[in-house]
Amino acid sequence: MTQQYHPLTEPEAIEFAKTIPGLFRPDAVLTSREIGDGNLNLVFHISDPSSGASIILKQALPYAKVVGESWPLSLDRARIESEALRIEGELCPDLVPQVYRYEPELALTVMEDLSDHIIMRKGLIERRTYPLFAGHIGRFLARTLFFTSDLGMNQQDKKERQKRFINPDLCKITEDLIFDHPYTDADTNSFDAAIRDEAEQLWNDKELHLEVARLRHGFLTNGQALLHGDLHTGSIFVTEQSTKVIDPEFAYYGPMGFDIGAVLANLLLNYAGQEGWNEEGESRNEYRAYLLQTIKDVWTTFERQFRELWDEANVDRISGTKAFQDIYVEQLLRDTFGYAGCKMVRRIVGLAHVADIDTIPDAAAKERAQRLALTIGKSLIKSHRQAASIDELIELAEKSV
Ligand code: ADP
Ligand code: MG
Ligand code: MG
Ligand code: MG
Repeated sequence: MTQQYHPLTEPEAIEFAKTIPGLFRPDAVLTSREIGDGNLNLVFHISDPSSGASIILKQALPYAKVVGESWPLSLDRARIESEALRIEGELCPDLVPQVYRYEPELALTVMEDLSDHIIMRKGLIERRTYPLFAGHIGRFLARTLFFTSDLGMNQQDKKERQKRFINPDLCKITEDLIFDHPYTDADTNSFDAAIRDEAEQLWNDKELHLEVARLRHGFLTNGQALLHGDLHTGSIFVTEQSTKVIDPEFAYYGPMGFDIGAVLANLLLNYAGQEGWNEEGESRNEYRAYLLQTIKDVWTTFERQFRELWDEANVDRISGTKAFQDIYVEQLLRDTFGYAGCKMVRRIVGLAHVADIDTIPDAAAKERAQRLALTIGKSLIKSHRQAASIDELIELAEKSV
């Protein structure tokens, strides 16, 4: 079924789902629910209540709604998302939804329904713990980043692949909303009046701006590996047993530390949010300790597996030395600190916030959480070039409270 692009209605989504062989019985009476937030994409949940079979249809919209305006966005990101999911699926089959079909004309991806999982951000706000998460995401990061880089791929094949993931529109969102607007009085910024002093400090901190300029330059020019590009806890589905990464529409060739930093930043944002979610005392300290242990485990799993992959691979003669591996991994840690910091700052003063902090009911607790997140974020940005161990990030988070 080929047809001209238009946003599907629910009945059309059902008709489309019926054309996919092997998913539903021919006589099934299907139901559809649109479950996306509708800002960038439509997400249809299609199911056959009688058999329990279900799928997800994700369709890109040709614009994003931003501060009342419409920001044109290439539909090609649906191709980028479906191709990234397939590459990630080859490297970590258990950690992403299966893609059943990609329909270019409609900018539509048909994929496995993960409704038995919950979005990790929601789970963390409910103070649940995910004992397997760090191992899963550490492996996801090690494998997807190593095997799409010049270390784990033939350099010419990598360049061919890089061509398919240029993604200018989505990169521009990141370049503006993460690496620019929070540091100036931009219209897109949004923050509570109570922390205006913090925002103004951000706009005037020249030392901070210089470090952000370095990190932004790395984002623009360092085509190190195929990134997910938007790896926050809202892009991760979890249960106690399982982890699934979704939504790689921002995928492009960029610095590995951007993805690792995204995961750590979102754990730290929840850490800062404990001001509002957890009574002061033992249970708050326990949950914070769990988050910091998870951060440490994510990094150490990543580093161990990344080094193992390097040792096993046929890395070229000139780069394949232990000395170069040490330098490379040290730089990854530094990038991770810096990008984690940028990701924290933008979630407090920039356009898009996180529920871990924004939905804290008590205004004073929310303000404390926002200030804490900014303190940690700014320190990470300013210290990133000296980082030598993940323990420094843990200590920084502990002493900032
Ligand atoms: P967007 O790019 O618009 O943020 P996402 O891919 O993050 O879209 O999906 C938005 C929401 O749709 C998710 O938070 C989740 O609730 C739901 N969703 C997306 N993919 C799936 C899936 N494979 N299974 C179940 N729900 C999904
Ligand atoms: Mg969304
Ligand atoms: Mg999303
Ligand atoms: Mg998305």
